[in-house]
Amino acid sequence: MTENRLILRGALVVNPETNEQRVRDVCVADGRIADVAGFAMQGAEVIDLRGLVLCPGFTDLHVHLREPGQTHKEDIASGTLAAAAGGFTSVVAMPNTSPTVDSPEVVAALVRRNAEVGAVRVLQTAALSLGRKGRELTDAAALKQAGAVALTDDGSCIQDAGLMREALLNARSAGITVIDHCEEMSLTASGILHAGEIAKKLGLKGIPASSEELVVARDAILAAELGFPVHVQHLSSARSVSLVRWAKEEGIPLSAEVAPHHIVLTERACCEHGTNAKMNPPLRTERDRLAILEGLRDGTIEVIATDHAPHSDDEKARPISEAPFGVIGLETAVPLCLTELYRGGVLPLLELVAKFTTGPRRVLRLPLGLLEPGAPADFTVLDLECEIRIGPDMLRSRSRNTPFLNRICRGGVAGTMVGGKWVFRR
Ligand SMILES: [Zn+2]
Repeated sequence: MTENRLILRGALVVNPETNEQRVRDVCVADGRIADVAGFAMQGAEVIDLRGLVLCPGFTDLHVHLREPGQTHKEDIASGTLAAAAGGFTSVVAMPNTSPTVDSPEVVAALVRRNAEVGAVRVLQTAALSLGRKGRELTDAAALKQAGAVALTDDGSCIQDAGLMREALLNARSAGITVIDHCEEMSLTASGILHAGEIAKKLGLKGIPASSEELVVARDAILAAELGFPVHVQHLSSARSVSLVRWAKEEGIPLSAEVAPHHIVLTERACCEHGTNAKMNPPLRTERDRLAILEGLRDGTIEVIATDHAPHSDDEKARPISEAPFGVIGLETAVPLCLTELYRGGVLPLLELVAKFTTGPRRVLRLPLGLLEPGAPADFTVLDLECEIRIGPDMLRSRSRNTPFLNRICRGGVAGTMVGGKWVFRR
């Protein structure tokens, strides 16, 4: 049997792990990265990538694939096609499906299904509490054994600090990562948009930034006490960024992610885009947005994750007070970040790539996004020069709920390779 050999020729290789940024060939044999020096050229297929950028495969630490239970919005097949089109070779699936992913049986079934139908690699999370109700804890060790890569009650979080402390102790014993959606529900109550000028103008109940900040602070203090890492999801407020910065200065093992919509938009987007700008946590003020950019720049925030949250047209057509929270993000994240952060001068390319590769890898403590001989041939190929208008033709997701339709971006995804095979090529 002849092995499948490829030479990826002439791309600018950008690898944050080694600080490499130079034009060279990358060789692939049987789905893995091969050592260029020892690579037999004979019989290899040459793929010309001159003028493009080749990065380790990007990981999206935060997606909702909606399977099982809500497959009218998305399923594993459609969601992972969207991921491939967006440049992600791995996605981390949230457990707030129906049923909730809170038992080893459900985890094991999903791990099998993810491998069967996923166009890219799907890493499965499980809930911290049974049914994500925040009353009884799940079995961290059994969930890890079944294949869960992390625990989270995303969509909400455990409200009781004592129970959260116990959850962290269990996760520490089991050696499984904890990631947390930070929201003090007594402050959010039935809020719709950020508690600011737009909510006031529209006569809608607001969600104060304090609802997020209190739980970020709580998690930082628990992480400090227990010496166990917590990753806080989708930060939206300036003070949350300051709290994470403080935690890092104290040596507390806290890491953080932000979503592209919080990088690009403010509460004002709700006037133009209505329910397609309704998400949780909400879009906040320009001051918050600028603090997020500063957090990305100074390394306080090490991960960009999409919080891809598909909803059907019908659901998003409801009045803003009734429509569900969330926007899709898999296909739009990379073009938006290349435009706003790289072209916008916020982050050099190497650091931007790190937010999608080394950042998520360190949170999960898994060998993802490595560009070295022997590692799986997972690559994200970027075209920094192309001009892209975000249109329905770009979207592979089953849902269309995005405020970014018709936005013009500079730079996008030219190809996505998983295990030595193209899963997307533009
Ligand atoms: Zn969330």
